[in-house]
Amino acid sequence: MPLGEESLPHRADWTVDQDWERYTAAEHAAWRTLFERQARLLPGRACDAVVAGMRDLAIAADRIPDFRRLSELLLRRTGWQVVAVPGLVPADVFFRHLAQRRFPAGRFIRRPAQLDYIEEPDVFHDVVGHVPLLMHPVFADFLQAYGEGGLRANRLGALDQLSRVYWFTIEFGLLRQADGLRIYGAGLVSSFAETRFALEDASPNRLGFDLLRVMRTRYRIDDLQESYFVIDRPDDLLRLAAIDFAPLYGKAKALKEIEPGDVVPGDKLVARGTGAYHRGKRSA
Ligand code: FE
Repeated sequence: MPLGEESLPHRADWTVDQDWERYTAAEHAAWRTLFERQARLLPGRACDAVVAGMRDLAIAADRIPDFRRLSELLLRRTGWQVVAVPGLVPADVFFRHLAQRRFPAGRFIRRPAQLDYIEEPDVFHDVVGHVPLLMHPVFADFLQAYGEGGLRANRLGALDQLSRVYWFTIEFGLLRQADGLRIYGAGLVSSFAETRFALEDASPNRLGFDLLRVMRTRYRIDDLQESYFVIDRPDDLLRLAAIDFAPLYGKAKALKEIEPGDVVPGDKLVARGTGAYHRGKRSA
């Protein structure tokens, strides 16, 4: 039986063994298909940290990476590990792992019919999208701080506001590099369609990152994003990690929520989108 979102008994921290030896030839082949087409897109689009992380971890087309080998390299570089989970885990479990520098990664791989979109993070999204950045000290520290912030936000009833920060940085963030706009968010780096959409399509808004603005911004989980937020350097995330979010949660909740495609007064426009993609979908 291929590994899937099966209901095996798991440990209290929800981790399971990756059972790397149990991947079938068909599952390694699915990885290859996904990896090869993505690898053609990433040069010139993924930021330097993603490219370097993938190279140093030897993430390649030949097979699904073994988390034990990834963890060995990560531990040496930044003190992180990759642990396997059967699928989505509760928020507090997720945050606790991140706070302890363990990245919970899905171990199953999507089926051929789900090549372009799956709801639950699989091994391709997690290993290609998230893991390379963990080799970079700044992204590594930011993600740990996010985990700690998540545990606090959970107690403060501010998970919506905090998850928007995660969404618009770790999942869908853009970074301005000396040689142009690049993707660093895992949802982009692992997506064939959205890698190009985020950078090259005229439809989405590209806005300078603003913490309070992001906390108020609703996002799409089932389609391409209508707005992306741009940071100027990886260190911006570390500055973010040093901010006490608690007073901002109250402020964000008191202000009106912002719809995914809206541009509002005060926005730092990098490029205003035409909105054509989502308008076309709504009228279809
Ligand atoms: Fe993700």
